[in-house]
Amino acid sequence: GRHAVDDNRISRFEYNGVIFSQDNFHVVAGLCAVDNPQHVEIMMRALQANQQVCTRMGAYKPRTNPYAFQGHGRTCLPYVFELAGKYGIKVIAMEVTHEAHIEEIRQVLKATGYPTGVMLQIGTRNSQNFELLKSVGKQHDFPVLLKRGFGITLEESLNAAEYLASEGNHKVVFGLRGVKTHLGDPHRNLVDFAHVPVVKRLTRMPVCIDPSHSVGSRVRAPDGLLDIQHATAQGIIAGANMVLVDFHPYPEKALVDGPQALLLEELPYFLEEVQIVREAY
Ligand code: PEP
Repeated sequence: GRHAVDDNRISRFEYNGVIFSQDNFHVVAGLCAVDNPQHVEIMMRALQANQQVCTRMGAYKPRTNPYAFQGHGRTCLPYVFELAGKYGIKVIAMEVTHEAHIEEIRQVLKATGYPTGVMLQIGTRNSQNFELLKSVGKQHDFPVLLKRGFGITLEESLNAAEYLASEGNHKVVFGLRGVKTHLGDPHRNLVDFAHVPVVKRLTRMPVCIDPSHSVGSRVRAPDGLLDIQHATAQGIIAGANMVLVDFHPYPEKALVDGPQALLLEELPYFLEEVQIVREAY
């Protein structure tokens, strides 16, 4: 049998006191890319004020343009982990684009000794980077958020999850983040949250949605709600177990993906809305 499909160990796991499963739910709000300690601290403080224990923080950014900001990488890890610890954040979703990043994260976590942890994220562009998948699969202490590939079949993305599980990492969350089409799209990607129940039917993995990278901007529907809010509600109705979402205290100053970052002052309303949708379905 295939681990990702039928292994009970994947269906529910705990990391740093936080439980991930197909019956559970977490919002993972945070910065697309870490830019400076001030913004990280503002973000973490807001999360704690809203009773959140998970966040997203991009240190190693996979950029389409080689001249674009590539992320602060290892240099930002000490203050990110320190501030996470200070504000009670238990899990930080953080993308790794190279095997070496895993060890950097492990070492800085250990050296700083703050009570926080990292969920290694594999981005859509690396969903068929088989050597990276094997490396992440081989270490069993970190959980993994695997994004689906934007231009491959769902089955191929599920095989990517299988690479992680077959190497012994059973803490895998599967992330939907939209797919590219050749048809042109008003959104950055075609929102694929109708696949949440499909992945839950085919596998044991908890399923995450990323409305920010799916929609790609703060465009509004005629009813005044952001398309990102609508997409989030759709994903929750479909049974999502996790929502990865970009916020920024000053989106116009963000170094990566500012146009899709929600305003930090909107965080309480976003969380309230998520709660309303969850209770309604
Ligand atoms: C991200 O979450 O920061 C990211 C780059 O997402 P994706 O791999 O889905 O584009």
